[in-house]
Amino acid sequence: MEDKIRNIQTQYLNKINQAKSLKELDGIFLQLFGKNGALDLLPKEFSKLSSEERRKVGPLFNQVKQDLEKAINDKRGVIREETYQKLADEKLTFQPLGLEARKRTGHLHPVTQLLNETLDLFSKLGFERFDAPHIDTDEYNFELLNIPEGHPARDLWDTLYINSKIKNQKSKLLLRTHTSNGQVRAMRQLKPPMRVMIIDRCFRYENLDARHEHTLEQFEIVYIDKGVSMANLQYLSEYFFQGILGKDIKARLRPKYYPFVEPGAGVDGLCIFCKGKGCNVCGGTGWLELAGAGMIHPQVLKNGGIDPKEYSGIAWGVGPERMAMLKYGVEDIRLFKSGDLKFLEKY
Ligand SMILES: [Zn+2]
Repeated sequence: MEDKIRNIQTQYLNKINQAKSLKELDGIFLQLFGKNGALDLLPKEFSKLSSEERRKVGPLFNQVKQDLEKAINDKRGVIREETYQKLADEKLTFQPLGLEARKRTGHLHPVTQLLNETLDLFSKLGFERFDAPHIDTDEYNFELLNIPEGHPARDLWDTLYINSKIKNQKSKLLLRTHTSNGQVRAMRQLKPPMRVMIIDRCFRYENLDARHEHTLEQFEIVYIDKGVSMANLQYLSEYFFQGILGKDIKARLRPKYYPFVEPGAGVDGLCIFCKGKGCNVCGGTGWLELAGAGMIHPQVLKNGGIDPKEYSGIAWGVGPERMAMLKYGVEDIRLFKSGDLKFLEKY
C-alpha cells in the first residue's frame, strides 16, 4: 500500500511539473481529487489493512495528499506569472482595418422637435415659459383647481400618490397628473395680464397600450386678461394646428367637461388624413380630438388671487406626443420612449 501511495505521488508530481496550462492543471486536480480520482478511491482499500499497517499508511496518505495539492497550487501560480509576463512583453500594434466607421450624427427627439416648434409658435404671441414641479401637492394638482377630495372628477386622472413622511405636510404628495398644477402657482406669482406656457412631463397610473403611456408630455397655455373669451380660444387653437400640421387644418370647439374651466371645450382639428371627408383614423367624422380647453373657472381665478369680475382667462392644453403621432404618422405612442434608434433615425 505504501508503494502504491508513493507511486501516485511520483507519477502525479511529474505530470504537475510538465503541465503547461491552467486547464491542464484542472484536469490533473480532478484525476486526483475528483469523484473516483486516484486519491478518492485509495482510502476505500484501507479497510483491508491490519490496524498496524493502517497506522503507518494513514499519515503517509495525508502527507502525500497535502503535498500534491500544494504542488498544483504552486504550479498554478507559476503558470499565471508566466502568462502575465508574456502579456507585458507583448507589443500592441493597431492596424487600421481599412473600413471607415459609419458616420452618425445625433438629432433632437421627434417629441422635443415638436415641443420646440410649439414653444416657438406661442413665444411669437408673447407667451412665456413657466415651470411647475413634477412632484407636487394634492392642493395644487387638484384642490385649488376646483377638484376637492372625493370629487367624482378625480376619476378622470389615475393618480400616482407618494407615501411621504415629511412633518407638517398637510397636503398629500403626488406625481403631477397634468401641467395644470402650474395654473394657480402662475396666477399667484405673476399678476394679470399674463400669458404663460407650462410644459413638461406628467404622470398617470395607466394601463399601457398603443395610445397610453405612464409618463407623458403636456403643453398648456394660460392666458388671462380683460375681455378674454372663447373667440380667443378658437383663434389660438387654429393658430397652433396650422403651425404644426398645415395651413388647411381648421379647429372646432365642442362642449366638454373639465372641473377647472367653465365652459369647457374639447378642441377638434380637421382630420389631417382625409381633410374632413371621413376616414378610418377619424372614425368617419372628419375631425380628430387634439386638445382640451376652456374659460378658467371663476373659483380657480379667485384661488389664484385674481378677481373674476375684472379678468377672464383661458386654459388650453395639448399632448405633444399625440400631435407628434399625427404629424409623423406614428401608430404606437410607446415607440417615442423605446430608445429604438431605427425608429428615431427616421425623424
Ligand atoms: Zn379622417
